[in-house]
Amino acid sequence: MAMQAKIYLVGTGPGAADLLTVKAQRLLHTADVIVYDRLVSDEIIEQIPQGIARIYVGKETGRHPVPQDEINHLLASLASGESRTIVRLKGGDPFVFGRGSEEALYLAERGIPFEVVPGVTAAVACAAYAGIPLTHRGLSRGVHIVTGHCQNNEPLELDWQKLADPERTIVVYMGLANLERICRKLIAAGLAPETPIAVVENGTTTRQRHCISTLIHISEQVVRHNMRAPVMIVIGRVVSLAGTLDWFIPALAGEADALHKEGRAYV
Ligand code: SAH
Repeated sequence: MAMQAKIYLVGTGPGAADLLTVKAQRLLHTADVIVYDRLVSDEIIEQIPQGIARIYVGKETGRHPVPQDEINHLLASLASGESRTIVRLKGGDPFVFGRGSEEALYLAERGIPFEVVPGVTAAVACAAYAGIPLTHRGLSRGVHIVTGHCQNNEPLELDWQKLADPERTIVVYMGLANLERICRKLIAAGLAPETPIAVVENGTTTRQRHCISTLIHISEQVVRHNMRAPVMIVIGRVVSLAGTLDWFIPALAGEADALHKEGRAYV
């Protein structure tokens, strides 16, 4: 009897190829077909061996993203075809703002076997690579994970009162376009205007840049430095440690990658 197909919803981490999990790396090499979108970095795509079929679902006719239900249908139809190991790559972790759960629900409802392979989510990775612990004794005892994106251009509605807690760190995914509004709302809800905030662009990659400022000044800084998505926003007292704990040198990460590719280093 032929083995049943399985779909692996695989988190690839925030971009750097050496932040792939061992399981994700193994699946990249054993897949029959790989489905991916624009949130998966080029560094990861380069890891896919020649000869493994790839399907890009990032953009349709060069412009719009492929609608979610089309991706769902594609996965289901692949599962009923020849392929046994179908790997759906997602940036970061599939279950953190990645719509991986929608794909998993669709598969579960149809009885299509799947596995979820967690990845290093961008908030955790970007904070670490900017020298910011998300929690730290005396500075933060928890983390709010929120999205700064809103559907259909509606105004962003978050629970500002709850978020404006100086004892907790806030990480904002997809928040660049609404950065100014986010800062204004947090200040209005009681967070000090001098609260430290970091914006990390292309975190963990050789192109990482970050900007550290305060709620009241960050927007002008981000404009001045022309920061572009993807960015991770980290807000709270813990950001004050970045000056001391900032260890990552993006240019040297490029060297480590090159050594890794030549098989000369395991970093
Ligand atoms: N599932 C992903 C998040 C997808 S939402 C995860 O777990 O990380 C996409 C958002 O993630 C981006 O808008 C940005 O806010 C953030 N992001 C992903 N990769 C990033 C990176 N390398 N640097 C900064 N932000 C990143």
